[in-house]
Amino acid sequence: MNIPKSSYPRIVIIGGGFAGIALAKKLSNKEVQVVLLDKHNYHTFQPLLYQVSTGGLEPDSIAYPIRKILKDYPNFFFRLAEVQQVVYADKTLITNIGTLHFDYLVLATGSETNFFGNTELQKNSMAMKTIPQSLNLRSLILENFEQALLTDEYHERDALMNFVIVGGGPTGVELAGALAEIKKGILPKDYPDLDTRRVQINLIQSGDRILKEMSEKASQKAEDFLESLGVQIWKNVRVTHYDGKTVSTKSDVTFESATLVWAAGVKAASIKGLDAEDLLTAGNRMKVNEFNQVEGLEGVFAIGDVACMQTEDSPRGHAMMAQPAMQQGRHLGDNLLRFLENKPMRPFAYKDKGSMATVGRNKAVVDMKNMHFQGIFAWFVWMFVHLFFLIGFRNRMVVFVNWVYNYIRFDREARLIIRPYQRDYSQFKEEDK
Ligand SMILES: Cc1cc2nc3c(=O)[nH]c(=O)nc-3n(C[C@H](O)[C@H](O)[C@H](O)COP(=O)(O)OP(=O)(O)OC[C@H]3O[C@@H](n4cnc5c(N)ncnc54)[C@H](O)[C@@H]3O)c2cc1C
Repeated sequence: MNIPKSSYPRIVIIGGGFAGIALAKKLSNKEVQVVLLDKHNYHTFQPLLYQVSTGGLEPDSIAYPIRKILKDYPNFFFRLAEVQQVVYADKTLITNIGTLHFDYLVLATGSETNFFGNTELQKNSMAMKTIPQSLNLRSLILENFEQALLTDEYHERDALMNFVIVGGGPTGVELAGALAEIKKGILPKDYPDLDTRRVQINLIQSGDRILKEMSEKASQKAEDFLESLGVQIWKNVRVTHYDGKTVSTKSDVTFESATLVWAAGVKAASIKGLDAEDLLTAGNRMKVNEFNQVEGLEGVFAIGDVACMQTEDSPRGHAMMAQPAMQQGRHLGDNLLRFLENKPMRPFAYKDKGSMATVGRNKAVVDMKNMHFQGIFAWFVWMFVHLFFLIGFRNRMVVFVNWVYNYIRFDREARLIIRPYQRDYSQFKEEDK
């Protein structure tokens, strides 16, 4: 990998997401050599992916070059690499561009969509975890309308305009709200020769309420907001099959749809070599102690979505969200420096700053420690917080200007089919294709 030898200990971070970048910043200009590896050369601001999928934002406004984040730190090296295996006994990583020795290793690989082993669903539905996936979804949505114009077949047209979103967490709720706004504000103007009143947006939740990690008040209000926008919410319905045309469920309800978005689960992005059963908990997350140290593996740490720190307050680990990831990254940075100075490490304590979700224009829900609010003020808070945490002044400006423009004009101008969507079956075994 052409990384020079150094007299300083080498800390290798896998993943330039919220956790990895927060850690990297803490180690800047310190007496350590830091190597950051990521399979993308950019950091993705995942909370706004749904806006890329629905033409509200261009992808480059929610991505930021990792090299630019680290450009002022002489003790840093970035390599565009996918880590394939960790050989702990040799303290070596195997990647698609070569091998690399580490003194200390930090896993910050985040999570990936969890289809719970259902290959049929995985093959036929759309995920929304990365920018390429969001662009695929954007293309598919727009291609569906172009196709709906061409068909004389009534059922086919309805299926092309029927969107099924599985998962009533923030991702599903935000996507459903954005699609409903497109139906209302954009489709009638873009497709005057199509009966866009027949567009359906179905949000399916296996439990008895959406946004189940938030307060009951927030769930109820989000439900009211979605229903006022015309989204149909299906609770206590569990999707079992989707063959690309028909969505089947455990109940007797089925949907004819050309688009199923799977937002019903994530699992940690674990890596071969560190995926032994005794290292993992539910959802593939790595068991870590209060110092983010992987149990039993000296010098190996995990932070963010991939880490599961079981505490009294969070017996199933911290929520797989940006705040715990950033806080763990910063905390581990301090701890590693303390450790290298032979000082005792300090246990991690999560400061819960609350959670929020938006449903659409003037409609959001916010839960804070002793405060719950909904509606237009919550929406402004949601926008402010997202702008604040975006990386890069240009990105903040571009997103802000886009939001103001979209608000005034009721528009989403990034509704472009830049790269037509084609299903990729290469990841499946021959018998599953
Ligand atoms: C659609 C969506 C909406 C969300 N909305 C919110 C929200 O509103 N609020 C909130 O708090 N959280 C939200 N989240 C969750 C939040 O984005 C994650 O909790 C957060 O990104 C976790 O940070 P992380 O650093 O652990 O992982 P990530 O940010 O996912 O970063 C992991 C990095 O590791 C890299 N990587 C993975 N495997 C490898 C490998 N083998 N080799 C090299 N590189 C690798 C990836 O390319 C990636 O850059 C959302 C997530 C999604 C998908």
